[in-house]
Amino acid sequence: MKLVKNLNLPINYLFRSFGTYGYLCAMQFPSKLIEDAVNAFATLPGIGKKTALRLVMHLLQKEANDTKNLSEAILKMRTEIKFCKTCHNVSDEDICSICSNSYRDKSVVCIVENFRDIIAIENTRHYNGLYHVLEGLISPMDGIGPEQLNIQTLVQRMESGEVKEIIMALNPTIDGDTTIFYLSKMLAKYELKITSIARGIAFGGELEYVDEITLARSIQSRLPYENYLNKN
Ligand SMILES: [Zn+2]
Repeated sequence: MKLVKNLNLPINYLFRSFGTYGYLCAMQFPSKLIEDAVNAFATLPGIGKKTALRLVMHLLQKEANDTKNLSEAILKMRTEIKFCKTCHNVSDEDICSICSNSYRDKSVVCIVENFRDIIAIENTRHYNGLYHVLEGLISPMDGIGPEQLNIQTLVQRMESGEVKEIIMALNPTIDGDTTIFYLSKMLAKYELKITSIARGIAFGGELEYVDEITLARSIQSRLPYENYLNKN
C-alpha cells in the first residue's frame, strides 16, 4: 500500500478522514499543519481547497528535501526579485537583461501591460526592440488612473530622443484602447512613429465565428498581399 512518507499512513487516510470530497467545503483536518498548508495553497489564483489538498498530499509523498528546495526557490524569488529601473520588467539586476543587451534595437519600444506579455512576445522571436511595462491599464471603472501606471517613466525615456517608434501591444479591450488613446496624447509632442499590434483573426480561425468588431478591424487594417506572404 502506498504510504504517506514520514507519517506512515495510507495515502488515502487523510481523504478518508474527511469522508467524501463533498465535505471539503467544511473541511475538518486531522492536522493543524496540513490545514495551514492547504489554506496557504488555496490563496493562490485558480487553486481551490480540493486542489490545495492534492498539492499538500503530493508534497507529503516526496522527500522533505524537495519541499525545502521548492520553498527556498519561492522565498528567494519573492525577496530577491527586482524590477528594471528602465522598463519595469522583472529582473535579477537593477537593469534587466533586455535593456542591457547591446544587440537589441534601442530605437523601438514596445509597450505592454505586464511582464507576462514580454515573455509571450519574446517567445515569438520576431521582436528585437525594447519594452516598457505599464503594470496595468487605465480603467475608470476600476478606479485605475494614469498616475498609478508607469507612464511618467515612459515619457522620461522619450526625452533622450533615442526612441523612434512606440509599439502599443496592449489587450484589445476598452481599457486597452483607453490607455492607447491616453498614451498617444502624452507622446504626441515627441517625434515618434506610434504603431499598434495588428488586431485580426487568429491563425487557424474561421471567419463565420469571428466577432464583428474583430472582423471589422481586420478588414480596416488589411494588408497588401505581398506583406501577408512575407509575414507567414
Ligand atoms: Zn529593462
